[in-house]
Amino acid sequence: MRRTLATTVALIGASALALAGCSGGDDGGASSGTPTVVTSTNVWGSVASAVAGDKATVTTLYTNAEGDPHEFEPSAADTAKVSDADVVVLNGGGYDAYMEKAVEGSDIPTIDAYDIFQGDHGHDSQAGSDSGDHDHGDHDHGDQNEHVFYDLPVVAEVATDLANTLAEKDPANADAYRANAEAFGTKITGLRDDLATIKKDHDGTEVAQTEPLAGYMLAEAGLVDASPAGFTQSVEEGQSPSAADRAALEDLLTSKTVHAFIYNTQAVDSVTEAMLSVAERSGVPVVKFTETLPDGTTDYVAWQQSQIDALSAALGNHAAH
Ligand SMILES: [Zn+2]
Repeated sequence: MRRTLATTVALIGASALALAGCSGGDDGGASSGTPTVVTSTNVWGSVASAVAGDKATVTTLYTNAEGDPHEFEPSAADTAKVSDADVVVLNGGGYDAYMEKAVEGSDIPTIDAYDIFQGDHGHDSQAGSDSGDHDHGDHDHGDQNEHVFYDLPVVAEVATDLANTLAEKDPANADAYRANAEAFGTKITGLRDDLATIKKDHDGTEVAQTEPLAGYMLAEAGLVDASPAGFTQSVEEGQSPSAADRAALEDLLTSKTVHAFIYNTQAVDSVTEAMLSVAERSGVPVVKFTETLPDGTTDYVAWQQSQIDALSAALGNHAAH
């Protein structure tokens, strides 16, 4: 439909542009009324809302600020919401496999953040930094880490893709969607500037986390995730870390080898709680990160801003400003 319109405009010339604009809403097949975007977690819901503004409706399946979204199983009503969607935004990479399954075989336009991530990072995930890379392997930004909602460039790209998809569904509001995505992208750039400031002051500093949650953000901030890969993987999979991995992490904390401990408040068990106590006893600053939006927060940028501020404060500010 888009292609037909573009071809027509090209044929009849620029003078017809205004006319074509006036009839933009009537291409056959586009649903009438307010488009509905369905997302898996409220993190992707908050990104979608930033783009949708008051022109499209956003429905989110997972909103529990306490639970573990890895363990979420949708109801039949949830799945029905997905099939009724005009556009779906999902994380992908196995994080919300129920969404991938729900859109399988349908023609609902779907934005898959992990696909975007793979397209962007196919060749440069280890490049760039010349400090601190020698022994940290691939456990925090290898292609197994599906927490791409902590990868800020990917999040901005999801917003742009969603704006373009909504613009096709709802041409009358195309400019609004694109302007919203652009404004969102500007705010993401602001967050990235803050990560660059952390990197300037703390490049190569070792930190630890309980789950691979913040891996991409830590990498952009120049921080090295020293946590035993076996520990973070076990927590992510809802299993108990091995005694050896637990001892290794405990050692990193008691020796203060790591300068901050990033604690996922939504993947908690007796072992992560024990590590939290070790960190507190050892005087390693604890930074609490969440996997979905905390209660009372609906804005993606505000959420990440407060987490980045907490991380920066934990590392201590020795910048000269
Ligand atoms: Zn997770």
